[in-house]
Amino acid sequence: MNEDDNFEERGGESSADDKDSRKDHTGKVCFMCHRTESKAGKMITIPGGITVCADCMQKAFDQMNDPQFRNLLNLSNFGNMKNFPGMGMIDPQDLAQFQQMTGQNGGTSAQEKEQEEEEEEQSSGRFDVSALPAPHKIKAALDEYVIGQEYAKKVISVAVYNHYKRVRTNTNTKDAIEIEKSNMLMIGPTGCGKTYLVRTLSKLLDVPLAIADATALTEAGYIGDDVESVLSKLLAAAGNSVKKAERGIVFIDEIDKIAKKQNTNQRDVSGESVQQGLLKILEGAEVEVPIGATSKNAMVPMTTINTQNILFICGGAFPGLEDIIRKRLTKTSSIGFQSQLKDAFDDDPDILTKVTTDDLKEYGMIPEFIGRLPMIFALRKLDKDMLVRILKEPKNAILLQYQKLLALDEVKLAFDDEALEAIAEEALKRDTGARALRSIIEEFMLDIMYEVPKDDEIGTVRITRAYIEHKGGPVITLRGSEPALITG
Ligand code: ADP
Repeated sequence: MNEDDNFEERGGESSADDKDSRKDHTGKVCFMCHRTESKAGKMITIPGGITVCADCMQKAFDQMNDPQFRNLLNLSNFGNMKNFPGMGMIDPQDLAQFQQMTGQNGGTSAQEKEQEEEEEEQSSGRFDVSALPAPHKIKAALDEYVIGQEYAKKVISVAVYNHYKRVRTNTNTKDAIEIEKSNMLMIGPTGCGKTYLVRTLSKLLDVPLAIADATALTEAGYIGDDVESVLSKLLAAAGNSVKKAERGIVFIDEIDKIAKKQNTNQRDVSGESVQQGLLKILEGAEVEVPIGATSKNAMVPMTTINTQNILFICGGAFPGLEDIIRKRLTKTSSIGFQSQLKDAFDDDPDILTKVTTDDLKEYGMIPEFIGRLPMIFALRKLDKDMLVRILKEPKNAILLQYQKLLALDEVKLAFDDEALEAIAEEALKRDTGARALRSIIEEFMLDIMYEVPKDDEIGTVRITRAYIEHKGGPVITLRGSEPALITG
């Protein structure tokens, strides 16, 4: 007869130790003090399968913080754990676990944390209609970063304001009038600020953002990413919190690339089928989403996301759409008294702003898809003036970034207005919008960033048009010869 049987026979009486070992299901023992989990509390497991109790872990930390001990081991920069023998193997995750156990982190599980966050949100008023910034305030904040594109900024500010107002109203009240989603479609040439606008918006609103590329999507079962992958990205951006993800923004770029393929008799797995696949998530549905992967398979854990309150913004350059719009406009206005000349719209730079849903249908977008993107608007192609402003005006303008870099070497960097125009002219030639600006600047700043730190005497570097056009060098002023410039 073994001890357990004896225990029953003894009428359930047992020593305190016995009880502890019975409670101790895990069988974990502290590597340092040899106490069991029932006595010492929950154990932390560090790599190598070693378990340590919270008390011993705390003692180890206290010890390491002791100056005498640090001197003994010559740990002058203890901030770096890896210097401590044997401690470098502690994973930050384990430390977080330790913080949770010792109550430094509230000791909450993921679920409790979400609940706490929800309560905090409710009390802090985040996502509260009254607390949500009014459209003009959203636009004013966007103005600090995004140059021009006034109409787009206005539309997006109103749409976002309405969207989050709707999120609040629809979840709080069960009345018959349900406000519809304000998903958006942005049309504009490459590098005009579509992605930048959405990125800035998500930062301002502090909501998670997923940026997906429509060209990577294919119909389920074919090589490529399933449409659900965009939600996996959002979930990752929300730190795997389903709740946060369900209020996030998804930006699907290059949406024109999933237009219906014309004149094809093959199955259109990356065009029309993807539009079909996106329909249900755009409108609002419970979608099974793989966690931490872009495709479903047996090995990947899944979760369910409701897309009802996710704001979808699609963007694309739609090359060739201008011709469709122009054709329609000349056709409708070629008869009668107000008839226009055939080439009346040929040089119209804002032709894209005249887009209608019919034009998009003709382009190859299916009606159901367009129908789920009620806000359709165009961004303008950037002109020379806008490019010059982008160089110097936004809060984190490229020029300001370089000026800051050189200021660290106590060198002032100045740009002639003529030089900025030359950069903008060069960017226009490359036809990739504001994207070209950075590469042009990087090209000519390389020499300066390389040469300037060599010479302590340099006080100011002035970039001229001649330098940009490779016809001369920058104007260098030595320290002391122009003190007024250096102090600025
Ligand atoms: P796209 O329209 O192709 O999505 P992006 O938004 O990615 O272009 O623009 C590329 C970069 O150019 C951005 O990261 C941003 O720095 C700059 N940029 C583009 N448009 C603007 C703008 N209107 N105002 C300020 N910066 C802009």
